[in-house]
Amino acid sequence: MWVEAASDICRKRQDSSENTLNLDTLKQAPDIQFKPISWRTFFKKWRYPDQEIDQTIYDILSFLAHRGDIIWFETSPLLKQTIFHKQEILANLLKAILNHDMDATIKTLQDSLTITAPKKCEIIEDLRVRGMVSEEAMLCLWQPFNLSTGEVDAMTELMQKLELCYQVQEDESLPSNTLFHFPWLLTEERQPELDTKWPSKVPPDTTQLTLQVLFPYRCPDGLYEKFSVRQHRYLGFYRTKRVDWKHGVYAELHGCKMQLSHHQSQPHLNTASNATDWGITISVRGQNLPDLWRPLIRAHGDLMDIIKEDWPGLSYDKYLVCPHCVSKGLEDPTLFFGEMIDQPSTTARRSAKVPCQKSGEEIDADLVFPPSWKTVLQQNQDILAENITEPCLKHMLNVFLQEDIITDHEYEWVKPELPQHQTSTTRVVCPEKTAIFLDILTRKPVRAHETLCQCLQEQGQTDLLELIQ
Ligand SMILES: [Zn+2]
Repeated sequence: MWVEAASDICRKRQDSSENTLNLDTLKQAPDIQFKPISWRTFFKKWRYPDQEIDQTIYDILSFLAHRGDIIWFETSPLLKQTIFHKQEILANLLKAILNHDMDATIKTLQDSLTITAPKKCEIIEDLRVRGMVSEEAMLCLWQPFNLSTGEVDAMTELMQKLELCYQVQEDESLPSNTLFHFPWLLTEERQPELDTKWPSKVPPDTTQLTLQVLFPYRCPDGLYEKFSVRQHRYLGFYRTKRVDWKHGVYAELHGCKMQLSHHQSQPHLNTASNATDWGITISVRGQNLPDLWRPLIRAHGDLMDIIKEDWPGLSYDKYLVCPHCVSKGLEDPTLFFGEMIDQPSTTARRSAKVPCQKSGEEIDADLVFPPSWKTVLQQNQDILAENITEPCLKHMLNVFLQEDIITDHEYEWVKPELPQHQTSTTRVVCPEKTAIFLDILTRKPVRAHETLCQCLQEQGQTDLLELIQ
C-alpha cells in the first residue's frame, strides 16, 4: 500500500494541472485516491491514528524526495508545505528568471509591469546592471504560471536554499522593498569607483592576506556564484556594504575589507605552455592581523565545503600569497602552500620568521601561518569572559571534567559559587572565573579547543563560537 501511495503522487505529475502539491491538502487527500477510497479512509480502515497517517505521508514524501522524484524539504517550515512534484515546472520557473537572453527578459518586464515609468526604469536597471530581481519583477516573470502566494513564497525560499540568490534589503523601514540578488545575472565589469575603496596597490599601513584556489583548465560552472551567495550570511541585508560585479565581490566586514574574484590566471612565466588556470582569489585587507585571518579562514572553509558537497573529487591547488610580496607589488610573489590553512589550530610553527624566496627577505611567520587556537583564545579572552554565562561555564566545567581534560583540583578552583556579576535579570556572568578557566585551557592539548567549540555550539553561543573557530 506504501508503494501504491508513492506511485499515486508520481501519477499526479502526468494527470494533474497544479504546479505544486500542498502538504495539508495531501494529508487530507480528498483527490489522491487508492481506487476507490481516499488515503485517509484507507489508512483509517487499518486503524491508524491520525498522527501515524501524517507520519506515513512524511515518510513517503522523503522517500520520493530522496529518489529525486519530487523536490521537498522537510526541515524548512515554509518549504515543507509545498511539494514540487513536477521538475519541468521548477525548471521553467528558474528559467524565467535566469534567462540568458537578458533583452527578452527586459522586454517582458517592459510590456507587462503595470507601474509608473520611473519605478519601471529602476527595476530594469537593477536587473540589467546589478543582477537584482525585485519581488515585483519576479511576480511579473512568473505570471504565465499562475502561482499562488504560497507557491511564490516557497519558490523564493527554495532559490535561496539552493544558493542561487540571496535577499537584499535597502532600507529596513521599507519591508516591501525586497530584492533578490543573482550573481549569475551580472554582466558588468568591476566598478571604477571601487578603485578608491580597494586600490590595486596595498596602502602603506595595510596588510593583505590572499588565498588563491586554482583549478586546472576550468572552474566548474556555478561554483563561484554559489560561493559568492554563501558569503552573504556574514554580510547582512544591506547592499551598501557589498558591491558585486561579473567576476567579483567587494565587501566591508568588521575591521577589514574583503574582495573575492573569479579569474583566469596569466600563463605562468616559467612554463612553456600557454595553458591558463582558472582561479578564485579571496583577499582580505586591514590593519589588525587577527581580524584578517578570521574572514579568510571562514571563506576558505565555505569554498572547501561547496567543493565537497557539489563537486567532490574536483582537482585544485591552493596557495597563500606572501603578504610581504603583495605589499611590495611584486609581480611574481612567493606562494606558500595553502594547506596550512586547513588546520590552523594544530599548525606548528617552527620559528618567528619565515624566508620569502622571491624577495629574499625574512618575514613575520604570523603573516603566513594562521594563528593557533591558543593565540585566538588569548586574543578573545575578554569578550569570552564577559559573555559566557554562569550556567554555560558550569556546564562546560562538567563536560571538561568528564572528558578528563581538566583535573578535579582545577574544577574546584574554577567552579563558580556565587554569581559575581549580574548584567541583567536573566543573564549572570562570572568573568574572573571564566578568564581563569580559559587560561587553563591554553595549557591543554588541542582536544580542549574542540570541546570548547562543541560546548558553545550546544549552548547556542554561535557568536562566541565564530570568534574562536
Ligand atoms: Zn614575499
